[in-house]
Amino acid sequence: MGREERKLRKYFEERAKRERRLARKYSQTKQFSNDDQAGCEALVASVGPGCCEIEVAGQGRCLCRCSLDIAPGDRVVFAADRRKIVRVLPRRTVLSRPDPHNSRIERLIAANIDVVVVVVSVKSPPLRPGLIDRYLIAIERSGAGPLICVNKVDLSSECPEVEVYRQIGIPVLRCSATTGEGLEELVNALAGKMCVLAGHSGVGKSSLLNALAPGLGLATSTVSDAHNKGRHTTTAASLHRLANGAVIIDTPGIREFGLWQVTADELGNYFPEIRILASRCNFRDCRHTQEPSCAVKDGVESGEIASHRYAAYLRILECVSRESPIY
Ligand code: GDP
Ligand code: ZN
Repeated sequence: MGREERKLRKYFEERAKRERRLARKYSQTKQFSNDDQAGCEALVASVGPGCCEIEVAGQGRCLCRCSLDIAPGDRVVFAADRRKIVRVLPRRTVLSRPDPHNSRIERLIAANIDVVVVVVSVKSPPLRPGLIDRYLIAIERSGAGPLICVNKVDLSSECPEVEVYRQIGIPVLRCSATTGEGLEELVNALAGKMCVLAGHSGVGKSSLLNALAPGLGLATSTVSDAHNKGRHTTTAASLHRLANGAVIIDTPGIREFGLWQVTADELGNYFPEIRILASRCNFRDCRHTQEPSCAVKDGVESGEIASHRYAAYLRILECVSRESPIY
């Protein structure tokens, strides 16, 4: 055996030893059956550095090593003997955002989701329509559907700004985690779907999850805590199952997020009411700012497009034109 070959063999022996050591570290008392030598399929419940928690149908959850870029909701193939994710199955949808420290890197938030529930409150904290507009763009890009959930309706039932979203075809539900109003409708809307809850801190996401999945016992904050950013008790995403088959991914990563790779040219397409009128603009590449004979600007004047939506479009257009992500 030549020197190179010996070196290689030693390298592989050490690697196998290391893998066995790590497998022992991650293995729990429970043993997962792995009939298929190619590995078995699992659902990613949460992701940590170099590892993740997976859910294997009928066999519960376990920790696993992973060096791939994955997110909660991903379907993966894992090698039970080595406790390692070996492959990520094709994704139906993926919600992502730019890395807050390096906007050129994409960070996955959740995969294979059907619905993103944007939770807002009208009062305490006050409504921030600009944030809803950004969420809607990211949701449209993800391939999932949006649902706006107006929580805390016990504090204020009036919310004309939200009606604008209903008019452009986005489903809007009103509820109160405190009084239970509207929760049944919310649960029914999520039945059998993979969902994530998005929304600003303090709007009541944890309270809603606690109300939907009794026994979960997630910590909630006072609104002033949330504003001072003194909380964020949830540090890793987690996946919860409701009795009606809904799977809810609770992730701290989507309390606020920037837009991943949205260009100025395509921005109008993510505003349904702008997309419809844009086909009547004089210029095919009209950005609806200074151009003459712009059907979108006419639409704003006539009230067909809500002025706050157009203002949001202009603000985001300025940001994406500068290539700076929005946070
Ligand atoms: P999160 O940061 O979005 O997870 O918000 P939390 O669930 O921690 O809620 C923030 C605060 O709002 C807590 O003090 C909750 O008790 C309160 N809260 C949540 N939902 C409601 C609601 O429907 N009505 C009222 N009045 N307060 C609520
Ligand atoms: Zn135009």
